[in-house]
Amino acid sequence: MTTQLAGHCHCRSVRVILEPGRPVAELPLRACQCSFCRTRGALTTSDPAAHLFVEAAPGSLNRYRFGQKITDFLLCAECGTYVAAVSETPAGVMGVVNVRGVDLAGFEGRTPDPMIYDEETADQRLARRQDRWMPVVVVEVQPSI
Ligand SMILES: [Zn+2]
Repeated sequence: MTTQLAGHCHCRSVRVILEPGRPVAELPLRACQCSFCRTRGALTTSDPAAHLFVEAAPGSLNRYRFGQKITDFLLCAECGTYVAAVSETPAGVMGVVNVRGVDLAGFEGRTPDPMIYDEETADQRLARRQDRWMPVVVVEVQPSI
């Protein structure tokens, strides 16, 4: 059994629950080098065996798109925290969670893998995400903590 990990944005309007699917130490920790992630110090994780649930108070999530515009970056409308990135795929909504943004426990002391995706086509990007990203469910509800 693996335990659930919970985190939240700075103002707690948005809460995330990660079901890692395997020991947290085996999950990747990635430092995407795009300008959006780099300037926010984002460190993300995802795993096809994991599940991510995002609870957001009504009206508390902004969706930001840039570049190829195939990804929604979920930002807290209140405190601006970058919470997660999600994308519609043939397998449903898939995404990554910003471990640092929501202060998820279990990744302390890890050295992240720097990732550069600049050369990818939109098709390559979708294929990679289907391999590595995890199913994400976003619900509009006042977080319970
Ligand atoms: Zn917030």
